Amino acid sequence: MQNTAMNESTAANSASDEDNQISCDTHGCRHTTFVCRHLAADPVQPWYCDYPAEDNPWPDAWCGECNLAYEREGEWNELNSDVADIQLLCSGCYDDGLAKSVGYLAGDALIAWEAYVDDCCQSLNSKQSILQDDFQINQYPRWDYDQATAQLVFSGADVPDLIADVEFVGTLSTVSHTWKWSWTNFSLLAPVRSRINAVRAVGEANNYPHLLVPLWHADQADGWHMTSIATDVLGGIAAYRAPSDNGYIFMVILDLRHASQA
Ligand SMILES: [Zn+2]
Ligand SMILES: [Zn+2]
Repeated sequence: MQNTAMNESTAANSASDEDNQISCDTHGCRHTTFVCRHLAADPVQPWYCDYPAEDNPWPDAWCGECNLAYEREGEWNELNSDVADIQLLCSGCYDDGLAKSVGYLAGDALIAWEAYVDDCCQSLNSKQSILQDDFQINQYPRWDYDQATAQLVFSGADVPDLIADVEFVGTLSTVSHTWKWSWTNFSLLAPVRSRINAVRAVGEANNYPHLLVPLWHADQADGWHMTSIATDVLGGIAAYRAPSDNGYIFMVILDLRHASQA
């Protein structure tokens, strides 16, 4: 989404780190972020903001009403900035608010989203049998993934190793109970998250907030739901869930073959 800085201090980008800190009663000392007063008061609505970037994890955000005022002027200036009445939020409150925003789906839009999730889950369920029926992945005592090659390798069995080409979908934290899309996980190498933006594009085309919001409260079922959508969008042949430090990494398997065929 088109965006410009709402506040001189973000535009200037010259302030020291200390100037970008804010003390929050809930989160302690955190990074300063800027949102319109409507999002600050009620985050459960669509957020108009850029996607997080490695050098800008909390882009300025505003609500739909403010976005009309923004588009009218094509920028934030003295004619429309009163509408937004920019508020400072700590980055923890920003993350919490944005995470809650997915809850605005209701009525027919919610029904359409749930139907889409159901369709993708059924499709993935029918695909998953390939892992056991055709490739018996359970007979491999070990697996390793290599982000640089975007490969998941099953090995240690009497039969040739299995090589899967994968795309990481996201991570499910069983500590914070959150889902984080791989497109916003800048600690992952590019080869395992080079295709996932196509899933976000489906979210943009259909106004599916769960595909657009970088991180939201979730359980393992949500992880599989998002992975089933990614498998469908990316034309995957199956999906895989691997344990990680704080939960699980979900991946789409794009291709699967024995090492002897590689
Ligand atoms: Zn607003
Ligand atoms: Zn806070």
